[in-house]
Order: sequence, then structure tokens, then C-alpha cells
Amino acid sequence: MATKPSSQPSQLERAKKALSEHHHRVTKSRLAVARALIAHNSLWITPEEIHQQIQNQELVACDLTSVYRTLTLFERLGLVARSEFYGEAARYGWRSERPDDSCEHAHFFKCKNCQEVEPLSQCLFADLAKSLAKRGFTNLEHRFEVTGLCPNCR
Ligand SMILES: [Zn+2]
Ligand SMILES: [Zn+2]
Repeated sequence: MATKPSSQPSQLERAKKALSEHHHRVTKSRLAVARALIAHNSLWITPEEIHQQIQNQELVACDLTSVYRTLTLFERLGLVARSEFYGEAARYGWRSERPDDSCEHAHFFKCKNCQEVEPLSQCLFADLAKSLAKRGFTNLEHRFEVTGLCPNCR
């Protein structure tokens, strides 16, 4: 199957489809959050920035709490990924495709100079987490981040 180019309308359609497939209503505010994320493409933005953008550009009432709720929902649906670095607000980025592995979360590299964030292709702890879960450990959480200089900044 050929992969379609990730143009804006098709990404928005994808969001609508994911919502209705999982029996969530396709609301104006949810679509506004999706549009804000899609417009930023691969850049990672905070919920506050998304909220600000909606206030500036959309004729939709969508408070910050709704933005947070929508982001949590989109993350569950595999539409967005969340990047978190120690001592910083979480940032969100649109996923143009659903990740094929079963791992729902992602880890990230961040450039100390230009602040560019890049998702890492895999989770090093997936096997470890699985074996701990098998031994009866629950509510497992882990954090892993890589910082440094990106090829453009080195
Ligand atoms: Zn850089
Ligand atoms: Zn992980």
C-alpha cells in the first residue's frame, strides 16, 4: 500500500476518523486543537501555545482545560506524541502516521542550542518493562531523554 503525502486536509480527516471510530464526538474544539498541531507540523508545542493559537485564529470557544483533555485523548488515539524534558512543560507534536510498534510512548532528543526536538525510534526499556510486569510490578513509569547538539549546530 502506498503512503499518502501528509497534507493538511487528509491529516484532519484522519483525526475525524480516529475520533468517530473510537466513539468520541468530532467537536469544533477538538478539530481546532488538531489544526493547531497539524499547522506546526513536526514542531513541538505546549498546550498553552496551542490555546493561544486557537484564541488568535479560530472562532471556537476552547479553554486551556479542553486543550489538555483533547491532547490526552489524541495521545491515546495515537494522533499526537508528547515530549517531556526535566523541568520543562510537556510539548506535543502531531504524528502523521500511527507508530507500528505497540509502544504508545516516545522518547526524544533535544538540541541544547536550537531546541529542536526529535523523536527517538525506539524505547530501550520496553523489554525491561515487560519483564517487570511479568513479575508482578505495576504502575511502571520511566523517563529517558537525550540532549546534545544536533548536526546543524555542532
Ligand atoms: Zn541544533
Ligand atoms: Zn520508553
